[in-house]
Amino acid sequence: MEQSELLVRRIKEGTVIDHIDEGKGLHVLGALNIDGTDGSLITIALNVPSGKFSKKDIIKVENKFLKDDDTNKLAVIAPKATINMIKDYKLVEKRRVSLPNEIDKIFRCTNPDCITNSSEHIEAIMDVIDKEKRILKCRYCGRILDINQLKYN
Ligand SMILES: [Zn+2]
Repeated sequence: MEQSELLVRRIKEGTVIDHIDEGKGLHVLGALNIDGTDGSLITIALNVPSGKFSKKDIIKVENKFLKDDDTNKLAVIAPKATINMIKDYKLVEKRRVSLPNEIDKIFRCTNPDCITNSSEHIEAIMDVIDKEKRILKCRYCGRILDINQLKYN
């Protein structure tokens, strides 16, 4: 076990999101609506040394398992993240996140004139036009979207 794993308490059931890019941990919490109001144990470690020259953020959430939408958000915010599912203190599944070809609903277009921001109730759909660079494009208005400015639905 890596020493960094020991910094945060083990959980019985739930999810460990590891290898989040340094500084993105709180962003991930917000995007996944993890706020602790349901009483679950949540441990957050920011700026954990990882390797010789880098740092990472880690989030452990008891009693939560990520849905596809959550995984897609993670892929956009923290593309190097790994998702570890824990059951009865054991790692039962480890997944890397990967960007899908399109992302539906979860982000809002940054163009205020876009029809998805009007009162038409049209769900935003974004095409992932470059997975490496994480460039998204709104399917309706064609705006190229900066992932750091996206707002969540
Ligand atoms: Zn748009």
